[in-house]
Amino acid sequence: MDTHSWLRTLISLDTTSRLSNLGLIETVRDALRRLGIDPWLNASATQPKANLFATLPARDGSTQGGIILSGHTDVVPVDGQPWRSNPFTLTEREGRLYGRGSADMKGFIAAVLAWAPSYVANPGCKPVHLALSYDEEVGCLGARALLHEVVQRGIRADGCIVGEPTSMQPVIAHKGISLYHCRVHGRAAHSSLTPQGCNAIEYAARLISHIRDVADACKAHGPFDEGYDVPFSTLSTNLASGGMALNVIPAECEFSYEIRNLPGSPAAGIQARVSHYVESTLLPRMRAECPDARIDITPGVSVPALDGCAQTDIARLVLSLAARQPRKVAYVTEAGLFQQAGIPAIVCGPGSIEQAHKADEYVTLEQLEQCDRFLQRLGLALGQRRQGGFG
Ligand SMILES: [Zn+2]
Repeated sequence: MDTHSWLRTLISLDTTSRLSNLGLIETVRDALRRLGIDPWLNASATQPKANLFATLPARDGSTQGGIILSGHTDVVPVDGQPWRSNPFTLTEREGRLYGRGSADMKGFIAAVLAWAPSYVANPGCKPVHLALSYDEEVGCLGARALLHEVVQRGIRADGCIVGEPTSMQPVIAHKGISLYHCRVHGRAAHSSLTPQGCNAIEYAARLISHIRDVADACKAHGPFDEGYDVPFSTLSTNLASGGMALNVIPAECEFSYEIRNLPGSPAAGIQARVSHYVESTLLPRMRAECPDARIDITPGVSVPALDGCAQTDIARLVLSLAARQPRKVAYVTEAGLFQQAGIPAIVCGPGSIEQAHKADEYVTLEQLEQCDRFLQRLGLALGQRRQGGFG
């Protein structure tokens, strides 16, 4: 099947993160088996989901080294979005292919699967590996389990290309993200008797303001990396709730915030400034009103930044294949996890992040053609090189 046909098939399999991805994984597994390749699945312990990993061996049969082509199989929901056509039926209009996941990121997976027969029939000096994950959109959960098994199995690779939509412009670095949930516990009272209560919403508001102050300090004083569209680490409170009635001083308030850190500026260091304010300023004031007042901050999902540069072997290879300048982005991908597992990674795939997650998500035919040419050149680059690196 060509890239277009594969994309039609992949889009028709609804892999919204809350659903199983096994239909897609089994379809891909069966297609690879027909090529004589036997992928292994890494099943989720708690959900009907699996990651898939396949190695297309080198000409001499070797399975170590080479390049991993990686993509996530899940897509974000379409609930409430005004789509002009069925999001799970690939629809072509004016050079664009519409469907949920067309850009993020089934277009890349389709192109890789379309090229797999060629990599198998005409192997290079280095293997090509396929890595498909679940639950990327809800915290890069599948890739963690997949990489754990990759390491356990002793699989080594020279580098990984994560095909998130970058309009085929190589992304050598991205920020990390860390989520935190905060619960402020005060004391309830009738709202006519304020001295008897400890107002959790008011203290939460002070803490949220302080998080904004830390964000403002990052913006004013850095560290900076002008390679990013937002060239400093950011903090933002994005959910909050609290209180139970208009005339009751609230005992509880909770909110969630995120830190998006530049590589080299760990989230833990930024979070320490939030915790310090809680311990040194906020809690003493609360406890003067209510001795058992508490502020509990629980870390949630965290994905490491991708700390790459244009001089690594994988970056040089991908920059030459794509013939484009490198870029840095604020959004998170699984590439940071590959790097953390000791596999140098870079992000490059068809479609624009502008279209991802929205109604009428699309990838252009031109982008898919660029990706096809990229994968063709990758095969040649791996085949034409001698043993001992692709630098
Ligand atoms: Zn994605």
